[in-house]
Amino acid sequence: MTDSAVREPLIELRGICKSYNGKAVLDHVDLQLFHDEALVIVGPSGTGKSTILRIMCGLTEPDEGEVFVGGQKVSAGDAGNLSLQIAMVFQQAALFDSLTVEQNVGFMLYEHSKLPRKRIQELVQEKLKLVGLDPAIARQMPAELSGGQRKRVSFARAIMEDPANPDDDPQVILYDEPTAGLDPIASTVTEQLIRQLKDQGSCDSFVVITHQESTIRNTADRVVMLSQGKVRWQGTVPQIDTCDNPYVRQFFEGKTTGPIK
Ligand code: ADP
Repeated sequence: MTDSAVREPLIELRGICKSYNGKAVLDHVDLQLFHDEALVIVGPSGTGKSTILRIMCGLTEPDEGEVFVGGQKVSAGDAGNLSLQIAMVFQQAALFDSLTVEQNVGFMLYEHSKLPRKRIQELVQEKLKLVGLDPAIARQMPAELSGGQRKRVSFARAIMEDPANPDDDPQVILYDEPTAGLDPIASTVTEQLIRQLKDQGSCDSFVVITHQESTIRNTADRVVMLSQGKVRWQGTVPQIDTCDNPYVRQFFEGKTTGPIK
């Protein structure tokens, strides 16, 4: 890869605005995700973090602004046709309840590849092991699993790829509140898994949105702070403790007074 390719953002949002029912949710947001990066978007609830993720992967159309994926400008309806593989891990796992774990994890390959069933089953087993699950779980239904297991299954689905199609390799994973509702130990395990999937090459870069401090500290290389629809600060994890940005101070110290309403 050339230096310029490394420096070019994998995903870039320029001047993104989005309103719902006349209320501005995102107000001229500029954001870049680079190669080999762990980006965490933080901010209070209802500040537009999920909306940013959905815009990044083409699920939501901005009212204004431009989205570039893999250097190419993305237009409405391009979600299934991006030059970069982007996988989304939804907050509630979003598994198909009527399908087995194997059918859930292998879903894209069953639908869109010509691979034989046996090969897909092997790939599913491989991915289940990568996320720390017993491959025997493949035969179970989502309702039979614990919340933590369901979450891992959704991670396995996100890293699934077609070995016959190199373009299919998931390069970016977007995690929507991956530790919401988990106890502190389960949160740590999930945070370690998110880092591990990147370190072992299952994805090139990832974006996590969260307001949970452990998740910020344990998964981020770079942190972007969003509040009232605008980017208020960007920096590294160590800079969180040393910067005097009033939004960062208020958020991380949990103060009720300050610029965050
Ligand atoms: P966050 O992830 O920071 O909690 P969201 O992006 O989920 O914030 O939502 C920001 C605001 O936009 C909220 O007030 C939410 O109610 C509103 N919103 C998000 N999606 C929709 C939608 N599809 N229709 C109407 N309002 C929405």
